[in-house]
Amino acid sequence: MSENKNLIEGATGFWEIVMGLEIHAQVASNAKLFSGAPTEFGAEQNSQVSLVDAALPGMLPVINEECVQQAVRTGLGLGAEIHLRSVFDRKNYFYPDLPQGYQISQFKDPIVGEGEIEIDLKDGSVKRVGIERLHLEQDAGKSVHDQHPSMSFVDLNRSGVALMEIVSKPDMRCAEEAQAYVKKIRSILRYLGTCDGNMEEGSLRADVNVSVRRPGEDLGTRCEIKNVNSIRFIGQAIEYEARRQIDVLEDGGSIDQETRLFDPRAGETRSMRSKEEAHDYRYFPDPDLLPLVIKQELVDKLRAELPELPDEKKARFVREYSLSPYDAGVLVSEKASCDFFEAVADGRDAKLAANWVTGEFFGALNKAGLQIESSPVSAKQLGDLINLISDDTISGRIAKEVFEIMFETGDDPAKIVEEKGLQQVTDLGAIEAAIDEIIAANPDKVAQAKEKPKMAGWFVGQVMKSTGGKANPKSVNELLAKKLGL
Ligand code: MN
Repeated sequence: MSENKNLIEGATGFWEIVMGLEIHAQVASNAKLFSGAPTEFGAEQNSQVSLVDAALPGMLPVINEECVQQAVRTGLGLGAEIHLRSVFDRKNYFYPDLPQGYQISQFKDPIVGEGEIEIDLKDGSVKRVGIERLHLEQDAGKSVHDQHPSMSFVDLNRSGVALMEIVSKPDMRCAEEAQAYVKKIRSILRYLGTCDGNMEEGSLRADVNVSVRRPGEDLGTRCEIKNVNSIRFIGQAIEYEARRQIDVLEDGGSIDQETRLFDPRAGETRSMRSKEEAHDYRYFPDPDLLPLVIKQELVDKLRAELPELPDEKKARFVREYSLSPYDAGVLVSEKASCDFFEAVADGRDAKLAANWVTGEFFGALNKAGLQIESSPVSAKQLGDLINLISDDTISGRIAKEVFEIMFETGDDPAKIVEEKGLQQVTDLGAIEAAIDEIIAANPDKVAQAKEKPKMAGWFVGQVMKSTGGKANPKSVNELLAKKLGL
């Protein structure tokens, strides 16, 4: 075995995978990057296309200020340098769904420069991944091939939609790190509100650059796996591609720099085209657009308005609520679960709230295959349930039963407790009567308990059984100790 857990063993020794990712994130904005056309997902084909998006002659692009601000917010959230002056370039290529014949992008002078984020790994360690740059660019339209036997159609709804391309440094060394990186970027974008992060709708997709090398050697030739649209596929694509490259090299071959596609059904990557060099795109500054200049005051204002981001929230949960770093990490990783937790914990015992949210609640959602947005139990209802535990109306054990019914029916906990008569028995007389009955019926156990105080546990069990689990456990323990003379 090798000391480095990330090394892969081939037939001729160990190999290291090196990865960098380019993430295309759709800017959350009501209008496109250079036109006023709407950007709603799922609209009728070609219903959201302005003359600019269709590239009719003489049309001029006008920058959407909100998209610029979203890019700045994102740059700040990635701990990156904001460039007060950036330049839009034309990236020239032909494609049927690109009517301009070029994409407006940023090449030499992007709006955001270097930054860094932290990713949490399963073994509890934290790794830093460098951000190379973030630039703004237009999305292309979509070719539709499956609606006519002999024709293809073009849908320009996406044409001109604002994208942020976030380029990482080649800092990742295994599939888990690449997946954790994408999850972290998605989480930051969602907290910032700059991208909805819905990978299934194409709002966030990753190009994964993979190469392999012998440990300590220079970087190998990379292949780019284009447009991978789920975290699971990213893992599968990397595992397959790294193994493929190792096999080629060990057979004495060499890697061609190329663009590949991941086929989720076959679980393999396939060659799509040999990679163009940047000069093939004939980048040049777009003569229709002045350099983009923003003021430091705007950057300062946006920085002051930033929401609390996942890393800060995690640190605060550990500090203020005494949660373990693990629990805190689970809670903050998705904004929706964090919002839910904060609503449940508000004014209550946060540790108890965290146990319920990460335990019973997430467990039930998982089992039912539901997202938090479609949970049958609201944060208010779960909070009410915790109140019933805290004020001794029900025990923690009964609360789990109540929760199951809540999850099935969507009913309020108070109603369920009332209807099913689940209130805890705190009436000492009733508990005492139950204890007396059990003691009278089991003189042998009483004798044993006097010798071995651990036997008292058996009596607790019997009292709980005879009260249907509703006796207040604290009162039961106190009364039993007295009666048994322990
Ligand atoms: Mn791009």
